[in-house]
Amino acid sequence: MSGTDGRTTALTSRMGSVSERLEAIRGRITRACERVDRDPASVQLLAVSKMQPAHAVAEAADAGQQLFGENYVQHWLGRVENPTIVALKGIHWHFIGKLQRNKIRFLLGRVRCIETVDRMKLARELSNRALARGGGTPQHVLLEVNLAEEPGKAGFSPAGLSATLGELLTLPGITIDGLMSIPPQREVAEASRSDHRALAALRDRLQEEQGVPLPTLSMGMSSDFEVAIEEGSTRVRVGTGIFGPRPPRA
Ligand SMILES: *Cc1c(COP(=O)(O)O)cnc(C)c1O
Repeated sequence: MSGTDGRTTALTSRMGSVSERLEAIRGRITRACERVDRDPASVQLLAVSKMQPAHAVAEAADAGQQLFGENYVQHWLGRVENPTIVALKGIHWHFIGKLQRNKIRFLLGRVRCIETVDRMKLARELSNRALARGGGTPQHVLLEVNLAEEPGKAGFSPAGLSATLGELLTLPGITIDGLMSIPPQREVAEASRSDHRALAALRDRLQEEQGVPLPTLSMGMSSDFEVAIEEGSTRVRVGTGIFGPRPPRA
């Protein structure tokens, strides 16, 4: 064996396989739940597989992972036709990327949830197209919130959402399950606690204002999912923590 092989082996074992990392993440989710007296079954793990090779998705699926998240419509369309992916049983997809209105038709009815509904126009178009498809049940969505009102970042502002949620809830082609956010990047996980707490508080307030349940809080990624769970996350979106570093986007 060459020196290079030895190095590769050492690196692989240090980082672990996809199934080992998945197991480790599951353990950390359970322990985070225990710290705040939550049932681990109340937290879904969304494996963010964007740009990862099909075999990595297959390895996660073989290890029991069923829920996957993707960000790029075109890439995902190719992925779901990949024989390796087609062969997988019982997996479902969420869309978690920036969605252009002209790509809606590729996702409707094919992803369980579109987590990144970030503007009224998109919500209306989604609803209209879902209705036009007919027969189907409404498309499940989350509303993306730009909590810190960062310039250039997608999402409803908290005040904007307060003002428009009533109208969003009347759209017949979508079912709003809750809120999602990608908070500003912080140096340490603990620093994101106030972001997660703020999203949970916004959800509570909106539920009260509108008198509707918004049960899903999609918050927390590889770097901060435990803190997010402690603050009430019901769905953590973990990419590199499961799959390792992402290959660059081609
Ligand atoms: C890429 C991505 C993630 C996963 O990020 P990691 O840091 O790799 O866990 C989660 N949510 C969204 C919206 C993403 O685009």
